Amino acid sequence: MTEIPKSHPRYASLMTRERIADGVRNGITSVQGLIAQGRGEAFDYILGERTMRSADRATLAASAALLLAERPAISVNGNVAALVPAEMVELASLLNAPLEVNLFHRSEDRVRKIADLLRSHGAGMVLGESPDCRIPGLEHSRALATRGGIYDADVVLIPLEDGDRCEALVRMGKTVIAVDLNPLSRTSMMASISIVDNITRAVPNLIGKIRSLSGSTREDLHAVLSDYSNRSTLRDAILEMREYLTARMNELDSADCSAVKQI
Ligand code: ATP
Ligand code: MG
Repeated sequence: MTEIPKSHPRYASLMTRERIADGVRNGITSVQGLIAQGRGEAFDYILGERTMRSADRATLAASAALLLAERPAISVNGNVAALVPAEMVELASLLNAPLEVNLFHRSEDRVRKIADLLRSHGAGMVLGESPDCRIPGLEHSRALATRGGIYDADVVLIPLEDGDRCEALVRMGKTVIAVDLNPLSRTSMMASISIVDNITRAVPNLIGKIRSLSGSTREDLHAVLSDYSNRSTLRDAILEMREYLTARMNELDSADCSAVKQI
């Protein structure tokens, strides 16, 4: 991994980039994953690289849904494995849920490497190496799924998922929780609960909220869920982005903004 000085103003973002680049070098992340990361970074920049209030609300609703689930399952792809492997294992163990390796650009080698990585972080059940069924309505290997995992789940967490597969899972009647920095992606629009946040912030936040809700009654968890609307959460995410951009625009007008010079 390239050394990044801690004093660099974009240290956190550059470290994330290094982790994804390492993921590609180690055969965990696809080359296309680099482009997905770039698209995510662009959205992260325009939402201020912090957890928005709307994302925090979505994360709370997602925690309630996962705690209420009878058969939760968690999907892991090459970007997720490169960025937050230990956190995904912790989340799965908190929920007693299987992790299922689920790749858009599937190769058996990459599936095995990701499964091994998760096991090296202490994962209990890792699925995806021997898929035994197909998600209806999807073509090619991206339809592959496993009984006892995503296929049978009532609530499924799909970070950085493709819009088509998200839609197919919703059509199967599942509660689908997406993590996607783009509030306008098909994934965000299709999911039951869309967390518009960076996976590096969203998963620790989810873990914290699940811990704090774990003593709640099912009635209280249902109340959290019934208050939630994904449509208004996505609207609020876009409004918060607009507010942030307006504040940045106003900085341009301030007298001490030396970075922007008049010709
Ligand atoms: P869709 O098919 O849903 O419209 P897309 O084609 O815009 O999605 P893809 O490139 O298929 O997007 O998938 C990448 C998605 O993951 C993007 O929407 C991107 O914003 C998001 N993403 C990338 N990196 C991260 C990250 N670190 N945290 C959260 N989301 C991310
Ligand atoms: Mg897509």
